[in-house]
Amino acid sequence: MAKKTKLKIDLNLDSIKIKSVSIDSNGDYHIYVSCTANSTLCNKCGNKTTQSHGQCDESIIEHLPIFDHCVYIHVKWPRFKCDNCDSNNSTTSFKPKWVNATGNKTREYENYCLKFLINSTIKDVSEKLNTTEEVIEGIITRNIKTKINWAEVNPTIIGLDEIALRKGHSHYVTIVSNLSVNKEVKILGVIDGNSRDDILPFLKSIPEDILLSLEGITIDMGASYFSALKELIKDVDRFNRIVTIDRFHVAKLLGDKVDKERKKIVKQLKLEFENDDDKLESIKGTMWPFRHHRNDLGKEGNNKLDKLFELAPSLKECYNLREELYEIFELEGLSKEDAKDKIDRWCKKANKFETKGFNPFTSFTKTYGNFEENILNYFTNRISSGPVEGLNNKIKVIKRRGFGFRNLTNFAKRIFLDINYKSALLPTPTN
Ligand SMILES: [Zn+2]
Repeated sequence: MAKKTKLKIDLNLDSIKIKSVSIDSNGDYHIYVSCTANSTLCNKCGNKTTQSHGQCDESIIEHLPIFDHCVYIHVKWPRFKCDNCDSNNSTTSFKPKWVNATGNKTREYENYCLKFLINSTIKDVSEKLNTTEEVIEGIITRNIKTKINWAEVNPTIIGLDEIALRKGHSHYVTIVSNLSVNKEVKILGVIDGNSRDDILPFLKSIPEDILLSLEGITIDMGASYFSALKELIKDVDRFNRIVTIDRFHVAKLLGDKVDKERKKIVKQLKLEFENDDDKLESIKGTMWPFRHHRNDLGKEGNNKLDKLFELAPSLKECYNLREELYEIFELEGLSKEDAKDKIDRWCKKANKFETKGFNPFTSFTKTYGNFEENILNYFTNRISSGPVEGLNNKIKVIKRRGFGFRNLTNFAKRIFLDINYKSALLPTPTN
Protein backbone atom coordinates (compact mmCIF):
# COMPACT_ATOMS: atom_id res chain seq x y z
CA MET A 1 0.00 0.00 0.00
CA ALA A 2 2.57 2.53 1.14
CA LYS A 3 4.60 1.95 -1.96
CA LYS A 4 1.78 3.19 -4.19
CA THR A 5 1.65 6.56 -2.46
CA LYS A 6 5.35 7.23 -2.91
CA LEU A 7 6.35 10.07 -5.16
CA LYS A 8 9.60 10.42 -7.03
CA ILE A 9 10.87 13.98 -7.16
CA ASP A 10 13.54 15.08 -9.57
CA LEU A 11 15.91 17.46 -7.79
CA ASN A 12 16.87 18.88 -11.16
CA LEU A 13 20.27 20.06 -9.94
CA ASP A 14 23.33 19.24 -11.98
CA SER A 15 26.81 18.03 -10.92
CA ILE A 16 25.57 16.01 -7.96
CA LYS A 17 24.54 12.44 -7.20
CA ILE A 18 22.33 11.50 -4.26
CA LYS A 19 23.97 9.17 -1.75
CA SER A 20 21.27 9.02 0.89
CA VAL A 21 18.21 10.84 2.23
CA SER A 22 17.14 11.09 5.84
CA ILE A 23 14.28 12.80 7.61
CA ASP A 24 14.99 14.37 11.00
CA SER A 25 12.66 14.64 14.01
CA ASN A 26 11.16 17.88 12.62
CA GLY A 27 10.26 16.11 9.40
CA ASP A 28 12.90 18.09 7.48
CA TYR A 29 14.76 16.41 4.64
CA HIS A 30 18.53 15.97 4.55
CA ILE A 31 19.86 14.92 1.18
CA TYR A 32 23.46 13.73 1.22
CA VAL A 33 25.07 14.07 -2.18
CA SER A 34 28.45 13.64 -3.78
CA CYS A 35 29.77 15.98 -6.42
CA THR A 36 30.32 14.57 -9.90
CA ALA A 37 32.35 17.46 -11.28
CA ASN A 38 35.87 16.59 -12.43
CA SER A 39 37.04 20.07 -13.36
CA THR A 40 36.47 23.72 -12.60
CA LEU A 41 37.66 27.11 -13.80
CA CYS A 42 40.61 28.53 -11.88
CA ASN A 43 39.66 31.50 -9.70
CA LYS A 44 42.87 33.27 -10.65
CA CYS A 45 43.51 32.70 -14.33
CA GLY A 46 40.15 31.40 -15.51
CA ASN A 47 41.63 28.31 -17.16
CA LYS A 48 40.02 24.93 -16.85
CA THR A 49 41.72 22.83 -14.23
CA THR A 50 41.28 19.10 -13.64
CA GLN A 51 43.88 18.45 -10.98
CA SER A 52 41.91 17.27 -7.96
CA HIS A 53 43.08 18.62 -4.62
CA GLY A 54 40.90 17.32 -1.79
CA GLN A 55 37.53 18.49 -0.58
CA CYS A 56 36.01 21.45 1.22
CA ASP A 57 34.22 21.14 4.54
CA GLU A 58 30.62 20.08 4.27
CA SER A 59 28.22 22.69 2.90
CA ILE A 60 24.57 22.57 3.90
CA ILE A 61 22.47 24.18 1.20
CA GLU A 62 18.81 24.96 1.72
CA HIS A 63 16.61 24.12 -1.26
CA LEU A 64 12.88 24.46 -1.97
CA PRO A 65 10.72 22.86 0.71
CA ILE A 66 8.92 19.60 0.12
CA PHE A 67 5.41 19.25 1.62
CA ASP A 68 6.08 22.20 3.91
CA HIS A 69 9.28 20.70 5.27
CA CYS A 70 12.74 22.17 4.82
CA VAL A 71 15.14 20.53 2.43
CA TYR A 72 18.89 20.60 3.05
CA ILE A 73 21.51 19.36 0.66
CA HIS A 74 24.72 18.19 2.31
CA VAL A 75 27.77 18.19 0.08
CA LYS A 76 31.55 18.43 0.21
CA TRP A 77 32.63 20.36 -2.88
CA PRO A 78 35.87 19.13 -4.50
CA ARG A 79 38.89 21.40 -4.76
CA PHE A 80 41.13 21.73 -7.80
CA LYS A 81 44.69 22.90 -8.22
CA CYS A 82 45.70 25.00 -11.20
CA ASP A 83 48.84 24.13 -13.21
CA ASN A 84 49.23 27.71 -14.39
CA CYS A 85 49.02 29.23 -10.97
CA ASP A 86 50.75 26.41 -9.12
CA SER A 87 53.60 28.53 -7.84
CA ASN A 88 51.08 30.44 -5.72
CA ASN A 89 49.73 27.18 -4.37
CA SER A 90 46.23 28.35 -5.26
CA THR A 91 43.24 26.08 -5.32
CA THR A 92 39.70 26.62 -6.53
CA SER A 93 36.71 24.88 -5.06
CA PHE A 94 33.95 23.79 -7.39
CA LYS A 95 30.52 25.43 -7.10
CA PRO A 96 27.63 24.84 -9.48
CA LYS A 97 25.51 27.72 -10.83
CA TRP A 98 22.47 26.68 -8.80
CA VAL A 99 24.15 27.64 -5.53
CA ASN A 100 23.72 31.25 -4.38
CA ALA A 101 26.54 33.68 -3.68
CA THR A 102 26.81 32.82 0.00
CA GLY A 103 26.87 29.09 -0.72
CA ASN A 104 24.09 28.09 1.68
CA LYS A 105 20.92 28.46 -0.39
CA THR A 106 19.99 27.39 -3.87
CA ARG A 107 19.09 30.13 -6.32
CA GLU A 108 15.65 28.56 -6.63
CA TYR A 109 15.19 28.97 -2.91
CA GLU A 110 16.12 32.65 -3.17
CA ASN A 111 13.59 33.15 -5.95
CA TYR A 112 11.01 31.43 -3.83
CA CYS A 113 11.68 33.95 -1.02
CA LEU A 114 11.41 36.85 -3.45
CA LYS A 115 8.04 35.59 -4.62
CA PHE A 116 6.85 35.53 -1.00
CA LEU A 117 8.16 39.05 -0.48
CA ILE A 118 6.01 40.67 -3.13
CA ASN A 119 3.39 42.70 -1.26
CA SER A 120 4.68 41.40 2.09
CA THR A 121 7.08 42.66 4.69
CA ILE A 122 10.48 41.18 5.43
CA LYS A 123 9.25 40.34 8.92
CA ASP A 124 6.20 38.45 7.60
CA VAL A 125 8.26 36.43 5.18
CA SER A 126 11.01 35.59 7.66
CA GLU A 127 8.36 34.30 10.06
CA LYS A 128 6.56 32.26 7.43
CA LEU A 129 9.74 30.74 6.07
CA ASN A 130 11.13 30.18 9.53
CA THR A 131 14.28 32.19 8.98
CA THR A 132 15.68 35.54 10.11
CA GLU A 133 15.06 39.01 8.73
CA GLU A 134 18.80 39.27 8.00
CA VAL A 135 18.63 36.24 5.71
CA ILE A 136 15.70 37.74 3.79
CA GLU A 137 17.43 41.12 3.59
CA GLY A 138 20.49 39.41 2.19
CA ILE A 139 18.40 37.74 -0.49
CA ILE A 140 16.93 41.09 -1.53
CA THR A 141 20.34 42.75 -1.54
CA ARG A 142 21.88 40.04 -3.71
CA ASN A 143 19.06 39.56 -6.16
CA ILE A 144 17.29 42.83 -6.74
CA LYS A 145 19.22 45.09 -9.02
CA THR A 146 18.18 48.71 -9.16
CA LYS A 147 20.35 49.47 -12.12
CA ILE A 148 18.39 49.20 -15.29
CA ASN A 149 19.60 47.54 -18.46
CA TRP A 150 18.60 50.31 -20.86
CA ALA A 151 19.03 48.28 -24.01
CA GLU A 152 16.70 45.62 -22.65
CA VAL A 153 13.98 48.07 -21.62
CA ASN A 154 14.38 50.43 -24.55
CA PRO A 155 11.78 52.97 -23.39
CA THR A 156 10.20 55.47 -25.78
CA ILE A 157 8.37 57.50 -23.16
CA ILE A 158 9.57 58.10 -19.63
CA GLY A 159 8.04 59.91 -16.70
CA LEU A 160 9.60 61.74 -13.78
CA ASP A 161 7.60 62.21 -10.64
CA GLU A 162 8.42 63.16 -7.10
CA ILE A 163 7.10 61.50 -3.97
CA ALA A 164 7.61 62.50 -0.35
CA LEU A 165 9.45 59.76 1.49
CA ARG A 166 7.56 60.47 4.66
CA LYS A 167 4.51 62.57 5.26
CA GLY A 168 5.34 66.00 6.58
CA HIS A 169 9.02 65.65 5.74
CA SER A 170 10.68 67.44 2.92
CA HIS A 171 12.68 64.39 1.89
CA TYR A 172 11.70 63.70 -1.69
CA VAL A 173 12.44 60.82 -3.97
CA THR A 174 12.22 60.97 -7.75
CA ILE A 175 10.62 58.00 -9.47
CA VAL A 176 11.58 57.48 -13.09
CA SER A 177 9.16 55.22 -14.90
CA ASN A 178 8.76 53.67 -18.30
CA LEU A 179 5.49 54.94 -19.78
CA SER A 180 5.97 53.59 -23.28
CA VAL A 181 2.67 52.97 -25.01
CA ASN A 182 1.45 49.36 -24.88
CA LYS A 183 4.00 48.46 -22.24
CA GLU A 184 3.41 47.78 -18.60
CA VAL A 185 4.52 50.69 -16.43
CA LYS A 186 7.89 49.79 -14.96
CA ILE A 187 10.37 51.50 -12.71
CA LEU A 188 13.56 52.74 -14.36
CA GLY A 189 15.07 54.46 -11.38
CA VAL A 190 14.56 55.61 -7.83
CA ILE A 191 16.61 58.71 -7.12
CA ASP A 192 17.30 60.24 -3.74
CA GLY A 193 16.10 63.83 -3.98
CA ASN A 194 14.29 65.96 -6.56
CA SER A 195 16.72 68.78 -7.21
CA ARG A 196 18.45 69.36 -10.51
CA ASP A 197 21.74 68.07 -9.12
CA ASP A 198 20.09 65.01 -7.62
CA ILE A 199 18.62 63.83 -10.88
CA LEU A 200 21.18 64.92 -13.46
CA PRO A 201 23.62 62.03 -12.84
CA PHE A 202 20.82 59.54 -13.47
CA LEU A 203 19.61 61.34 -16.58
CA LYS A 204 23.18 61.46 -17.87
CA SER A 205 23.48 57.70 -17.39
CA ILE A 206 20.83 57.13 -20.07
CA PRO A 207 22.68 55.87 -23.16
CA GLU A 208 22.85 58.35 -26.02
CA ASP A 209 20.89 56.18 -28.48
CA ILE A 210 18.04 55.67 -26.00
CA LEU A 211 17.95 59.38 -25.28
CA LEU A 212 17.79 60.19 -28.98
CA SER A 213 14.95 57.77 -29.59
CA LEU A 214 12.77 59.08 -26.75
CA GLU A 215 9.42 60.37 -28.00
CA GLY A 216 8.30 61.87 -24.73
CA ILE A 217 9.35 62.76 -21.21
CA THR A 218 6.58 63.76 -18.84
CA ILE A 219 7.29 65.85 -15.77
CA ASP A 220 5.55 68.15 -13.36
CA MET A 221 6.49 71.79 -13.40
CA GLY A 222 7.02 72.22 -9.70
CA ALA A 223 10.15 70.19 -9.33
CA SER A 224 13.45 71.07 -10.93
CA TYR A 225 13.05 68.48 -13.66
CA PHE A 226 12.58 71.18 -16.26
CA SER A 227 16.00 72.72 -15.73
CA ALA A 228 17.69 69.33 -15.43
CA LEU A 229 16.24 68.23 -18.76
CA LYS A 230 17.26 71.51 -20.36
CA GLU A 231 20.80 70.68 -19.34
CA LEU A 232 20.45 67.18 -20.74
CA ILE A 233 18.74 67.97 -24.04
CA LYS A 234 20.70 70.82 -25.56
CA ASP A 235 18.73 70.89 -28.82
CA VAL A 236 15.99 73.44 -28.03
CA ASP A 237 13.60 72.24 -30.76
CA ARG A 238 13.86 68.71 -29.57
CA PHE A 239 13.42 69.78 -25.95
CA ASN A 240 10.28 71.70 -26.86
CA ARG A 241 8.97 68.76 -28.80
CA ILE A 242 9.40 65.93 -26.31
CA VAL A 243 9.36 67.36 -22.79
CA THR A 244 5.73 67.33 -21.70
CA ILE A 245 4.26 68.81 -18.59
CA ASP A 246 1.82 66.34 -17.18
CA ARG A 247 -1.75 67.56 -17.66
CA PHE A 248 -2.78 66.48 -14.17
CA HIS A 249 -0.13 68.70 -12.66
CA VAL A 250 -1.43 71.60 -14.76
CA ALA A 251 -4.97 70.87 -13.57
CA LYS A 252 -3.80 70.67 -9.98
CA LEU A 253 -1.99 73.99 -10.18
CA LEU A 254 -5.11 75.70 -11.52
CA GLY A 255 -7.35 73.86 -9.07
CA ASP A 256 -5.25 74.99 -6.11
CA LYS A 257 -5.38 78.65 -7.20
CA VAL A 258 -9.14 78.57 -7.62
CA ASP A 259 -9.60 76.74 -4.34
CA LYS A 260 -7.68 79.46 -2.53
CA GLU A 261 -10.19 81.95 -3.89
CA ARG A 262 -13.03 79.75 -2.65
CA LYS A 263 -11.54 79.64 0.85
CA LYS A 264 -11.18 83.41 0.89
CA ILE A 265 -14.72 84.08 -0.26
CA VAL A 266 -16.30 81.49 1.99
CA LYS A 267 -14.54 83.07 4.94
CA GLN A 268 -15.93 86.49 4.00
CA LEU A 269 -19.43 85.04 3.56
CA LYS A 270 -19.32 83.40 6.96
CA LEU A 271 -18.55 86.74 8.57
CA GLU A 272 -21.16 88.56 6.52
CA PHE A 273 -23.92 86.09 7.40
CA GLU A 274 -22.88 85.41 10.97
CA ASN A 275 -26.46 85.71 12.19
CA ASP A 276 -28.25 84.15 9.24
CA ASP A 277 -28.55 80.42 9.82
CA ASP A 278 -30.13 79.70 6.42
CA LYS A 279 -27.31 81.32 4.54
CA LEU A 280 -24.68 79.74 6.76
CA GLU A 281 -26.25 76.39 5.95
CA SER A 282 -25.83 77.12 2.23
CA ILE A 283 -22.13 77.77 2.70
CA LYS A 284 -21.48 74.66 4.76
CA GLY A 285 -20.05 71.59 3.07
CA THR A 286 -19.35 73.22 -0.27
CA MET A 287 -15.65 72.38 -0.48
CA TRP A 288 -16.12 68.92 -1.93
CA PRO A 289 -18.65 69.87 -4.64
CA PHE A 290 -16.59 72.93 -5.53
CA ARG A 291 -13.52 70.80 -6.19
CA HIS A 292 -15.37 68.45 -8.54
CA HIS A 293 -16.91 68.60 -11.99
CA ARG A 294 -20.67 69.11 -12.17
CA ASN A 295 -21.04 65.83 -14.03
CA ASP A 296 -19.41 63.93 -11.20
CA LEU A 297 -21.70 65.48 -8.62
CA GLY A 298 -25.11 64.14 -7.77
CA LYS A 299 -28.22 66.26 -7.48
CA GLU A 300 -27.38 67.23 -3.91
CA GLY A 301 -23.87 68.35 -4.78
CA ASN A 302 -25.12 70.43 -7.69
CA ASN A 303 -27.74 72.06 -5.48
CA LYS A 304 -25.09 72.93 -2.92
CA LEU A 305 -23.01 74.59 -5.61
CA ASP A 306 -26.02 76.55 -6.94
CA LYS A 307 -26.82 77.87 -3.47
CA LEU A 308 -23.21 78.89 -2.88
CA PHE A 309 -23.03 80.61 -6.25
CA GLU A 310 -26.23 82.56 -5.50
CA LEU A 311 -24.42 84.14 -2.58
CA ALA A 312 -21.12 84.56 -4.42
CA PRO A 313 -21.60 85.06 -8.19
CA SER A 314 -17.90 85.76 -8.71
CA LEU A 315 -17.09 82.31 -7.36
CA LYS A 316 -19.39 80.82 -9.98
CA GLU A 317 -17.48 82.61 -12.69
CA CYS A 318 -14.25 81.38 -11.18
CA TYR A 319 -15.50 77.78 -11.08
CA ASN A 320 -16.76 77.93 -14.65
CA LEU A 321 -13.46 79.32 -15.91
CA ARG A 322 -11.60 76.48 -14.24
CA GLU A 323 -13.92 73.93 -15.79
CA GLU A 324 -13.56 75.55 -19.21
CA LEU A 325 -9.83 74.93 -19.20
CA TYR A 326 -10.24 71.37 -17.93
CA GLU A 327 -12.65 70.71 -20.79
CA ILE A 328 -10.12 71.77 -23.41
CA PHE A 329 -7.84 68.99 -22.19
CA GLU A 330 -10.70 66.51 -22.49
CA LEU A 331 -11.42 67.28 -26.14
CA GLU A 332 -10.58 64.32 -28.31
CA GLY A 333 -8.53 64.78 -31.44
CA LEU A 334 -7.74 68.42 -30.75
CA SER A 335 -4.47 69.41 -32.47
CA LYS A 336 -1.68 71.24 -30.67
CA GLU A 337 -2.34 74.38 -32.76
CA ASP A 338 -6.06 74.39 -32.06
CA ALA A 339 -5.43 73.73 -28.40
CA LYS A 340 -3.04 76.69 -28.33
CA ASP A 341 -5.72 78.96 -29.84
CA LYS A 342 -8.33 77.81 -27.38
CA ILE A 343 -6.07 78.17 -24.37
CA ASP A 344 -4.83 81.59 -25.51
CA ARG A 345 -8.43 82.76 -25.69
CA TRP A 346 -9.08 81.25 -22.29
CA CYS A 347 -6.05 83.07 -20.83
CA LYS A 348 -7.32 86.40 -22.17
CA LYS A 349 -10.64 85.81 -20.49
CA ALA A 350 -9.01 84.63 -17.27
CA ASN A 351 -6.73 87.65 -17.15
CA LYS A 352 -9.75 89.95 -17.27
CA PHE A 353 -11.43 88.23 -14.36
CA GLU A 354 -11.20 90.15 -11.13
CA THR A 355 -12.90 90.14 -7.77
CA LYS A 356 -12.39 93.15 -5.54
CA GLY A 357 -9.25 94.12 -7.36
CA PHE A 358 -7.82 90.60 -7.19
CA ASN A 359 -7.30 88.02 -9.95
CA PRO A 360 -6.72 84.45 -8.83
CA PHE A 361 -5.76 83.41 -12.36
CA THR A 362 -2.86 85.73 -13.14
CA SER A 363 -0.15 83.64 -11.55
CA PHE A 364 -1.51 80.57 -13.34
CA THR A 365 -1.59 82.23 -16.75
CA LYS A 366 1.94 83.48 -16.16
CA THR A 367 3.15 79.98 -15.34
CA TYR A 368 1.28 78.69 -18.37
CA GLY A 369 3.13 81.26 -20.50
CA ASN A 370 6.48 80.04 -19.22
CA PHE A 371 5.76 76.38 -19.96
CA GLU A 372 3.37 76.78 -22.87
CA GLU A 373 5.18 74.62 -25.44
CA ASN A 374 5.65 71.79 -22.99
CA ILE A 375 2.13 71.92 -21.62
CA LEU A 376 0.72 71.89 -25.15
CA ASN A 377 2.79 68.81 -26.02
CA TYR A 378 0.07 66.83 -24.33
CA PHE A 379 -2.05 67.41 -27.41
CA THR A 380 0.64 65.92 -29.64
CA ASN A 381 1.64 62.82 -27.76
CA ARG A 382 -1.43 62.41 -25.51
CA ILE A 383 0.59 60.72 -22.82
CA SER A 384 -1.74 59.87 -20.02
CA SER A 385 -0.40 59.83 -16.54
CA GLY A 386 -3.23 57.51 -15.54
CA PRO A 387 -0.88 54.50 -15.27
CA VAL A 388 1.47 56.63 -13.16
CA GLU A 389 -1.30 57.23 -10.66
CA GLY A 390 -1.62 53.48 -10.24
CA LEU A 391 2.12 53.24 -9.84
CA ASN A 392 2.15 55.99 -7.24
CA ASN A 393 -0.52 54.20 -5.26
CA LYS A 394 1.53 51.01 -5.27
CA ILE A 395 4.57 52.95 -4.09
CA LYS A 396 2.53 54.52 -1.30
CA VAL A 397 1.55 51.05 -0.14
CA ILE A 398 5.20 49.92 -0.19
CA LYS A 399 6.11 53.03 1.77
CA ARG A 400 3.50 52.39 4.43
CA ARG A 401 4.32 48.70 4.66
CA GLY A 402 8.03 49.36 4.85
CA PHE A 403 7.72 51.86 7.66
CA GLY A 404 11.21 52.05 9.05
CA PHE A 405 13.12 51.48 5.83
CA ARG A 406 16.63 51.91 7.09
CA ASN A 407 17.82 53.51 3.91
CA LEU A 408 16.76 54.53 0.46
CA THR A 409 18.51 51.58 -1.16
CA ASN A 410 16.19 49.16 0.64
CA PHE A 411 13.17 51.24 -0.33
CA ALA A 412 14.31 51.36 -3.94
CA LYS A 413 14.88 47.62 -4.00
CA ARG A 414 11.39 46.98 -2.66
CA ILE A 415 9.91 49.22 -5.35
CA PHE A 416 11.83 47.33 -8.03
CA LEU A 417 10.84 43.98 -6.56
CA ASP A 418 7.15 44.71 -6.12
CA ILE A 419 6.62 46.52 -9.39
CA ASN A 420 9.15 45.22 -11.89
CA TYR A 421 9.57 41.65 -10.77
CA LYS A 422 5.95 40.88 -10.19
CA SER A 423 5.00 39.77 -13.67
CA ALA A 424 8.24 37.87 -14.09
CA LEU A 425 7.78 35.82 -10.95
CA LEU A 426 4.09 35.27 -10.66
CA PRO A 427 1.74 33.63 -13.14
CA THR A 428 -0.58 36.08 -14.85
CA PRO A 429 -4.15 35.85 -13.59
CA THR A 430 -6.40 34.37 -16.26
CA ASN A 431 -9.81 35.78 -15.31
ZN1 LIG B 1 45.02 29.37 -12.67
